[in-house]
Amino acid sequence: MSMNEQEFRQEVADWMATHLVGRFACLKHRGGPGDEEAFPALRKEWEQELAAGGWVGLGWPKAHGGRDLPLALQLAFHEEYVRAGGPGRIGHIGETLMAPTLIALGTPEQQRRFLPGIREGREYWAQGYSEPGAGSDLAAITTRCWPGEDGRWRLQGQKVWTSLAHESEWIFVVARSTPGSVGREGLSFLLVPLDQPGIEIHPIRQMTGEAEFNSVFFDGAVTEADCIVGKPGEGWKVAMALLGFERGVSTLGQQMHFIHELQLVIDVARANGAARDPAIRQRIADAWVGLQGLRYNGLRMLEEDTGSTKVRPEALIYKYAWSNWHRELGQLAMDVIGVAGDVRSDDDAVRRLQQVFFFSRADTIYAGTNEIQLNIIAERGLGMPRG
Ligand SMILES: Cc1cc2nc3c(=O)[nH]c(=O)nc-3n(C[C@H](O)[C@H](O)[C@H](O)COP(=O)(O)OP(=O)(O)OC[C@H]3O[C@@H](n4cnc5c(N)ncnc54)[C@H](O)[C@@H]3O)c2cc1C
Repeated sequence: MSMNEQEFRQEVADWMATHLVGRFACLKHRGGPGDEEAFPALRKEWEQELAAGGWVGLGWPKAHGGRDLPLALQLAFHEEYVRAGGPGRIGHIGETLMAPTLIALGTPEQQRRFLPGIREGREYWAQGYSEPGAGSDLAAITTRCWPGEDGRWRLQGQKVWTSLAHESEWIFVVARSTPGSVGREGLSFLLVPLDQPGIEIHPIRQMTGEAEFNSVFFDGAVTEADCIVGKPGEGWKVAMALLGFERGVSTLGQQMHFIHELQLVIDVARANGAARDPAIRQRIADAWVGLQGLRYNGLRMLEEDTGSTKVRPEALIYKYAWSNWHRELGQLAMDVIGVAGDVRSDDDAVRRLQQVFFFSRADTIYAGTNEIQLNIIAERGLGMPRG
């Protein structure tokens, strides 16, 4: 670890120790996977606190209000953030998906209009890709959009599994703008304000008990003509660029939370005696080794840091590796709590592990299912022919 990194880590740790206190203290270790509904209003205030401290947009270029920090320091931030109990980030869709896409492909006006709201924690974003008939096969999208006589664009259709739409001001939507087009052609990428009469947001309750995602219905919803990123009809290119950010850097931070969850599993195993079972001890050791593997793989990619948002092709294995690791941790958590896990528990530690188990079932689905990740690794990483 360089001196620079050591000092940076200390700076993050000191800041967290003096800011994650008082009214924010109840946010410690809250709001992670399966716990998304925890204190949303306070977590947004926390986002603003982070922004004021200069901890949002660490990888963005300085010209856009970021700090242009190398990946190594971005990772160091995430590690120290989690070590200090930093809550799950409610602004991550805007910060790590929308912002890099706008920086890469948005107009200067769009960058000026939207980046400050994301960086300062004033405007939150949802991702309107999936539809009931278009998940893995995203190009099957049927939500339509067209320019109205007043120059504004209109939308008709339905999106589904839209995380945090109920907490967001804006949604980016991929919709079909060329009537009769099929597949990747004729799509557009629109930025749409959520608070308007043409949009209805219906929560979908999950087995975790939470409802952090939704169905979003567009019935004549409108957005301005200058809220299209890229050219009309070329939305696929923009949508794929954004997915590159989702499957790359944006998930690096997420893994850092796993160390805390593994520690919870160990604490419960020690407290209830499960740790005396050699098979459980072995699985805990395997989980720890797996986590180190994930971490070192991340560090390996940093050796050739190619800039603040791009990572090497090895990054393609990340999503597949961490989602499987996390799913196994969820199973281990349930085996550690034993029969107490079969009913809804009032015990905080048990409930948290139940949430880890329930939510980890989704990890191998969202941001691309396991099967799709394997296709991506084969085709883009290894250059194998499409099946
Ligand atoms: C917690 C969570 C949050 C989400 N948040 C969002 C969000 O904010 N915004 C958003 O737009 N979407 C979101 N999604 C949706 C997510 O992106 C989709 O669920 C995912 O892409 C899979 O699509 P699907 O559910 O339609 O399944 P399908 O595409 O119908 O897949 C069903 C099964 O078939 C397999 N399969 C499909 N095609 C192939 C193929 N070519 N080769 C091999 N196997 C294949 C899949 O791997 C899967 O096992 C979220 C999902 C979850 C679980």
